[in-house]
Amino acid sequence: MLIILDRDGVINQYDGSYICSPDEWHPIPGSIDAVARLCNAGHRIAVATNQSGIGRGYYDVDTLDAMHDKLKGLVEAAGGCIDLITYCPHRPDDYCRCRKPQIGLLEQIRTHFQLNSLNGAIMVGDSRKDLEAGLSAGCDVALVRTGNGLETECHLQERPIPRARIPVYNTLSSFADAVLAAEGWQKQNESV
Ligand SMILES: [Mg+2]
Ligand SMILES: [Zn+2]
Repeated sequence: MLIILDRDGVINQYDGSYICSPDEWHPIPGSIDAVARLCNAGHRIAVATNQSGIGRGYYDVDTLDAMHDKLKGLVEAAGGCIDLITYCPHRPDDYCRCRKPQIGLLEQIRTHFQLNSLNGAIMVGDSRKDLEAGLSAGCDVALVRTGNGLETECHLQERPIPRARIPVYNTLSSFADAVLAAEGWQKQNESV
């Protein structure tokens, strides 16, 4: 399965302020291992992240690349691999086609994997715009409660997304647990 992850608030800690350097980029506990476990079960991992801090001049593409080298290095050290990271560098008032909830980043991912559609892929996010992008692009979606996730969950109760079933997990690690359990994988610390 192709699993598309939002970055801020899903993989790394996010409190609403811009992350402007690799030193400010800290993984959520368990998230790196979750990515590696999904990889080891045969899933492909891509990332789709809005990075308007570039358009706003808070950091540049080289710095973003350095953050992503840190992310990829941690995942590789844990025995996994991130196949592709796509990002939108634009500001909301650029009205681009890639900033989620637009589907441009997901289209880049679909093209990279040479897929006709993203049916069967799953988008995991902490914000409503992740869920809306995923659904618009034909993915299944899941919400995590890290980052903006708790607030997103509350607002989904007030203003549901029509015709969408949205499973909610505490963390990316609990999402991975559920995916792997559904496929019959044992947790390493469970006795067989
Ligand atoms: Mg996010
Ligand atoms: Zn964009």
